[in-house]
Amino acid sequence: MSLIGAARRKGRGWPPAWRKTEPRKDYDVVIIGGGGHGLATAYYLAKLHGASRVLVLERGWLGGGNTGRNTTIIRSDYFLDASADLKEFSLKLWEDLSQDLNYNLMVSQRGYVDLAHSDGELEGFVLRANAMRLRGSDAEILDREALGKRVPQLNLDGATRYPIVGALVQERGGTVRHDAVAWGYARAASQCGVDIVEQCPVTGIGVDGQGVKSVITPKGEISTRRVLISVAGHSSVVAAMAGITLPLESLAVQAFVSEPVKPVLDVVVNYNAGLAYVSQTDKGELVLGGAVDPYNSYASRGGFRRIEDVVERAIAMFPFISKMRLMRQWGGIADIPMDGNAIVGPGTVDGLYLNAGWGYAGFKATPAVGWTMARTIASGETHPLLEPFSLSRFETGGLIDDAGAGPRPYAH
Ligand SMILES: Cc1cc2nc3c(=O)[nH]c(=O)nc-3n(C[C@H](O)[C@H](O)[C@H](O)COP(=O)(O)OP(=O)(O)OC[C@H]3O[C@@H](n4cnc5c(N)ncnc54)[C@H](O)[C@@H]3O)c2cc1C
Repeated sequence: MSLIGAARRKGRGWPPAWRKTEPRKDYDVVIIGGGGHGLATAYYLAKLHGASRVLVLERGWLGGGNTGRNTTIIRSDYFLDASADLKEFSLKLWEDLSQDLNYNLMVSQRGYVDLAHSDGELEGFVLRANAMRLRGSDAEILDREALGKRVPQLNLDGATRYPIVGALVQERGGTVRHDAVAWGYARAASQCGVDIVEQCPVTGIGVDGQGVKSVITPKGEISTRRVLISVAGHSSVVAAMAGITLPLESLAVQAFVSEPVKPVLDVVVNYNAGLAYVSQTDKGELVLGGAVDPYNSYASRGGFRRIEDVVERAIAMFPFISKMRLMRQWGGIADIPMDGNAIVGPGTVDGLYLNAGWGYAGFKATPAVGWTMARTIASGETHPLLEPFSLSRFETGGLIDDAGAGPRPYAH
């Protein structure tokens, strides 16, 4: 037996990836939510801005929210500047992130193929591809013949209900091992001096005449003048603790994995007649996702209707899937503002920052949100990439109505 094997068997030689600690009485910054976004913000605050008194509070376990529940897709193929610029910045950060964190995130830029089902839809994709190229990103339009070569497993039979006429492909899109992102950021943040406390829900937010003053937890009240709410599917609940009402809805969204099979699919494919997206993990499972369940809910599970719907569309894309068994299904809570885009930046209470409303599209933005939010908190000035995502856009009318953004509550 190898030395590593022996140490592992005895439970020795594997130091914890991040320090276990009890919270101190006060901090410069408290981050509520130990998902990828909160942990990334903590890491960049400590690493790039020298913040040494940062606390991350997680009510469950790190990555146990949407970070560990998503379908792991990354891409930057958006139409409008606001979404595209932030996601493109994120994609660039993903490309070097394993080295930066010294942690293998299994970043796989295997390509992201967005299918068009009509000539009109493909025409829209051409506009989006042109916008992407003008910004310096990569995009390619494939007609049916070229698509057949890129993804030979696709059913390109023109006699189907929603025939596929072409696609927009972003070859730099792909997948990242989701929970490794939480672990990698947590380990690196901890090494930079960030305190991380799990099993510690925030139950209240203290506010006085100067703005935010504390967070309340079962481990006591913790003083701080800067708080970031980064709790994905529970943003309304936590923001309400500071008296803020957010213009968003909370809906369950499901993901599915098949039994593992040999390598059959080396690219991510998205079907737009309804919604279904498919990729294959390194273990061999096919990962499937679709649209939200069509009702508000805080239950992290979903209904059979969506399972049937996603599987039907996946089989329409790849008929071989009909021979496979679905192994597991789970759900997460997606908070979706009315324009389908996130709310990121200062809240309406001094010292309180919001990172909410990413729906089922925020995993890809994890490094960029962490990076830009850290600078926003450290400098007190909103990072230019975050300005369009302000809460005030719902008052001023500056909504972000973006093709490619995906999540709108009842779009599918
Ligand atoms: C099924 C599904 C598929 C998805 N697929 C994709 C995809 O392919 N690509 C993509 O880009 N995005 C995808 N997403 C969206 C993506 O997962 C999220 O936008 C992103 O992971 C959010 O990260 P986060 O760190 O903000 O949230 P989370 O990872 O949810 O972290 C928030 C944390 O806050 C904690 N928390 C909540 N309340 C409190 C409290 N009171 N006190 C302390 N802690 C609290 C939670 O326990 C949680 O761990 C998908 C989401 C789902 C559900």
